[in-house]
Amino acid sequence: MSTSTANSSTFLDSVNRMLDDAMGLMDLPNGIDAQIKACHSVYYVRFPVRIDGEFRIFHGWRAVHSEHRLPSKGGIRYAPEVDQSEVEALAGLMTFKCALVDVPFGGSKGGLQIDPSQYTEDQLKAITMRFAIELEKQGYLGPSVNVPAPDMGTGEREMAWMATAYRTLHPDDINADACITGKPRAMGGINGRIEATGRGVQYGLHAFFSHPEDVAAAGLEGGLAGKRVVLQGLGNVGYHAAKFLEEEDGALITAVIERDGAIINDRGISIEALSQHQRATGGVQGFDGGTYQSDGRAVLEKECDILIPAALEGQITLENADRIRARIIAEAANGPITYEADLIMRTRGILVIPDLYLNAGGVTVSYFEWTKNLSHMRFGRLDRRMNELRAHTTIEVVETITGGKVPPDLEKKLTQEAGELNLVRSGLDDTMRTAYEQIREVWLGRDDVHDLRTAAYIVAITKVAKYYTDYSIT
Ligand code: NAD
Repeated sequence: MSTSTANSSTFLDSVNRMLDDAMGLMDLPNGIDAQIKACHSVYYVRFPVRIDGEFRIFHGWRAVHSEHRLPSKGGIRYAPEVDQSEVEALAGLMTFKCALVDVPFGGSKGGLQIDPSQYTEDQLKAITMRFAIELEKQGYLGPSVNVPAPDMGTGEREMAWMATAYRTLHPDDINADACITGKPRAMGGINGRIEATGRGVQYGLHAFFSHPEDVAAAGLEGGLAGKRVVLQGLGNVGYHAAKFLEEEDGALITAVIERDGAIINDRGISIEALSQHQRATGGVQGFDGGTYQSDGRAVLEKECDILIPAALEGQITLENADRIRARIIAEAANGPITYEADLIMRTRGILVIPDLYLNAGGVTVSYFEWTKNLSHMRFGRLDRRMNELRAHTTIEVVETITGGKVPPDLEKKLTQEAGELNLVRSGLDDTMRTAYEQIREVWLGRDDVHDLRTAAYIVAITKVAKYYTDYSIT
C-alpha cells in the first residue's frame, strides 16, 4: 500500500495550512510570512542510466525551501511515489525543524522516483552517483550550500556513493566529507547517526513524559513502562524508536504495521526478533511472535496509549481519523496526519507530538557529523583521557577522605566514557529536552494555542522571522 501522488499534494497543502494557522496567531512584519512560507527553488532533473543494455530515464528533485542559513539541509528519498509537491512539503518541514532544534541550516529535501527493490546494487550505485553529479552541477550538493542525508529508501550506502561522486569532482576540497551526512563511519560518518532519528523519538517522549501534567493532558499517567505502543513502519526510524522504547523503557509494542500486513501481540512484540524476520523474509508475515493480519492499515485503529506512525505521510486522514483509539500520536514520520485529520485529533482530545519536533533527531546528529567533518577531528579526541583521569582522581579523593568505597553504580556513572557515541547521545538528549521546553512554554503559556504542533511552529517561525528581519540585506 502506498500514498499515491494524490496524497502528496495534500501533504504540501497540509504543511502550508498548519503553517498558516500558526502564522495567524503571530504578529509578523508585513511580507515576512509570505517569505517564510515560499519554497525558494526546486531543481527537477531527468537523467538516463544504462540498465541491462538499455537507457532508462530517472526523475529526481531537490527542493530548497530556505537559504536564510547555509548550507540547506535535508534527506534524499527513494520511492516510486516521490514527486515535486512531496519534496517541497518535506523541504518546508526541514526549515522549521532545523530552527526548532537550533541547527544552523536552511531547509531542503530531495527525492528520486524509483523503487530501489527493482535494481541490483551495482545499478543503484550508478543511478545514485549520476543523480549526485546532476545535483552538484546545479549547486544542489556541497558542504557549504546543500547537504543531503538519508531518508526513506536510502541509508549509509547511498550517502557513501554520493560522497564519492562529490569527492571525485572536487579532489581539492578539504571539506568534501561534509557534503553529505549519514555516511559510514569509515568515510567520516559519526557514531549514532543511524539510530539518531529513532533515538530522538525516544528522547522526545522522555521529555514529554517528564511532565506529569502533560501526560495527564493526554489522559494518561506514569512513565513509558507498560505503555501500549502501536508502530507503523519497521524501517530505520521505526525500528530504532520501538527497540529503545521496548528494551530501555519497558514499553509494550502491541502491534507493528508493515507494507505486507501487521503483527499483533498484546503481551508485547520483540522488535529485534521481528526485524530479523523482516530482513530474512522481506516482510512481517510468518513471524511467530504474534498474530498476523493482512489489512495493516486497519491496525492503525487498534486501541493503544501511543501510536507511532514511522512510515510515510498521509496515513491518518478524514477517512480513519474518527476511528483512531490512541491517547498520543507520536509523529516519527513526516506528515503522517493530514491537516483535516489533525483538527479531528484536537477535538477528540488525542494529543499529537508533532513531526517537526519529534523526528528532528536525524538532522541534529547530522549537524554533529557536519561539524565533525569541518573540524577534521572526532568528538572526544582531545579531552577523553583528561576526563577519565579526572573521574578516577575524584573517586580516589572521596575514598581517601571518607575511608570508604564509592559504590560500583556511582563509580560506573563517574567513569562513563566521554567517547563519540556517548557525546552524540548526550547532545541529542539535551537538544530534544531544550526544544520541548520551548514548545511547552508556548503551549501552556498562551490562551490561543491549544496543541503542540501550533506551539512548535510558533517557536520555529519566530526564530526564522528574526533571522529575516535582523539580517536581511534587501
Ligand atoms: P525506511 O525506508 O527506512 O523505513 C520505512 C518503513 O516503512 C519500511 O520498513 C517500509 O517497508 C515501511 N512502509 C512503507 N510504506 C508503508 C505502509 N504503507 N504501511 C506500513 N509500512 C510501510 O524510512 P525511514 O528513514 O525510517 O523514514 C520513515 C519516515 O521517517 C519518513 O516519513 C521519513 O521522512 C521520516 N524521517 C526519517 C529520517 C531519517 O533519518 N531516516 C529523519 C527524519 C524523518
